[in-house]
Amino acid sequence: MNEEFCKSLKIIKKQIQSWDDLPKRPSDLLNALIYLSLESPEKVEEGFSNVELNETVNKLNPQNHWGTNTDGITKRVSNGWDKLKQFWSKKEEGLHQRALEDHLTGFVKLKKRTSRGGGGNPSLYSFTYEPFDSKSDKIHEKTPLNQGEIRYFTEDVIKPSGLAKILSNKLILAGWGKVAFFSSTILIGLLVFLLLLQIPIGLTQQKTAGEAIYFLSSIFILLGLIWYGFSPIYRVIESRVEVAPWWLQPEIHNDYLLVFNRNKPQSANTIEWKRFTSECPNCKGQIIIKTGRLTHSGRLVGHCENSPREHLFSFDHYLRTGAPLN
Ligand SMILES: [Zn+2]
Repeated sequence: MNEEFCKSLKIIKKQIQSWDDLPKRPSDLLNALIYLSLESPEKVEEGFSNVELNETVNKLNPQNHWGTNTDGITKRVSNGWDKLKQFWSKKEEGLHQRALEDHLTGFVKLKKRTSRGGGGNPSLYSFTYEPFDSKSDKIHEKTPLNQGEIRYFTEDVIKPSGLAKILSNKLILAGWGKVAFFSSTILIGLLVFLLLLQIPIGLTQQKTAGEAIYFLSSIFILLGLIWYGFSPIYRVIESRVEVAPWWLQPEIHNDYLLVFNRNKPQSANTIEWKRFTSECPNCKGQIIIKTGRLTHSGRLVGHCENSPREHLFSFDHYLRTGAPLN
């Protein structure tokens, strides 16, 4: 087994501990596959069967095992694997960044080999090592850190699908995407206009000062919600990165950012949902990104979870670097 393969598995093993959104079944499978690959390196190339994976899951989780009933094994492993693949696509970018930081020149991928000829031959599951291609190994991955600086890593990446994909691909902008984007902008503008129009009309109908205050505050709360909910989508085109509004926070975390990648003219522009984290050099706590307050207003700032008001760092999403802030 090559040394980089082994180091890749160690990086995954370390990272799994922080993946609190990884469901149990794919997590069991991933741990079992790492265990088997390290225990039986001679079998890595061929791959491991669902029976071997199931047995290893049971061995590693005696308290909470999958059972030994052979009937369901194929389905259990295969379903778990599909979920693991989905999850892996979110994590792959960050894993590659960590590998580059450790001077690796490639990383492992998940591989399922479905046997031809059907019958009794089960599918085989494995990791395969693949060198990075020079395009994905971007120049800014190698930006050296100055004294005291920290490196951020991409934690999750969610590529947009459906309408969001059309919109972001076409942003600045062409064809139907342009039409959809501008019509939604006009719709939001119209909504704001109608709400503002309500103020003079509605005010004359309120009988007491209390009613008028209640009426005005409802209008302003609605306006605020619209601003708060939609403005990041527009601001991100200028600023390249914004904290995603609450209705676009996809999962248990609320520190997803919207990142606008200007790729044109080589390829289409994209907007992705991404999380970045780093490790606090003061206390080893996890640093997450939030909107800056007070003197850091208008910026995104890395906050340490152990001391969110004192251990603060700047955040450059492009170079993935940060420096201590006072
Ligand atoms: Zn800290």
